[in-house]
Amino acid sequence: MLRRLLARIPKLEKAVCLVKSYRIGCQQQKQILIGRIASGVLRMRSVRMASAAVVSGPLSQDFSKNVTLSDGAKDDFVTEHLYYTDTELCECKAKVTGVRLMEFQGESRHVIVVDQTVMHPQGGGQPSDTGMIKKVDGDQTIEFNVLHVQKPSRDSKYIEHIGSYAVGSKQFAVGDPVDIFVNADKRRYHARIHSAGHLLDSAFINLGWTELEPSKGYHFAEGPYVEYIGNIPVEKRDEVIKQLNQESTRLIQEKIPVVVSQNDKGERIVNVGGTECPCGGTHVKNTSWIGGMSITKMKKSKKTIRVSYEVTGS
Ligand SMILES: [Zn+2]
Repeated sequence: MLRRLLARIPKLEKAVCLVKSYRIGCQQQKQILIGRIASGVLRMRSVRMASAAVVSGPLSQDFSKNVTLSDGAKDDFVTEHLYYTDTELCECKAKVTGVRLMEFQGESRHVIVVDQTVMHPQGGGQPSDTGMIKKVDGDQTIEFNVLHVQKPSRDSKYIEHIGSYAVGSKQFAVGDPVDIFVNADKRRYHARIHSAGHLLDSAFINLGWTELEPSKGYHFAEGPYVEYIGNIPVEKRDEVIKQLNQESTRLIQEKIPVVVSQNDKGERIVNVGGTECPCGGTHVKNTSWIGGMSITKMKKSKKTIRVSYEVTGS
């Protein structure tokens, strides 16, 4: 497909071709970037995006509209992830380190990069936070509505806040001090869903299903699930669902503290209900904060079994 696509593109533009493949939640996305050098500047445009299914609409980066983040290479940008240390922290102060434009869901949007943020970027099966970035300067206020938060790639050290300014508002400049506010209700709801997904691992282990290996988590409000490599015989599934519901209820009632630590490799490790798992998401403080959960169904595909669940209560 790529070869056919390239044949239709003028030779001059084939100076750079890059196929970006990345994950949004559980969805694998592919973006093809074609670039050319013009007046000594590399200009790139996104020519096609392939995706099996899109969670939150098409997402593409249009480098032809790119304004450099600021001086220096983008790789030098680092955003401190404050949400790692405290899920309940819903606002913080920060400094703008970069601004640029990008195309997001068919619209030209502004991207703000800051030195530290409380906003969780979409990834690891958890949806993006939303919220507001604000600067009050005398009697002037700049308000930026954050629609989506992401890392440009899995290994990026910086976080992009994508959104739009209030009508008539001035724009941020690099160096501006700002205040960042997360939509707290959404954040807590996502943390409950994510922690419930991890609690499912603990419930399985406590019931003796130790050979099931968690392979993918999808912790969105619509249809969350965890996929495990392995199988549960079809005739046992109804009974196992019943047992999982009892065990997860017990673990929630036990109010077990969620422990976040770092392993020898520097990975962030989250322990919910007794089971450790590398994770970059936001979590409840103890299992009772999940409220309640219900395991709803199991579905087998080739090598994995998908266990769907929902959080209940508040
Ligand atoms: Zn996780």
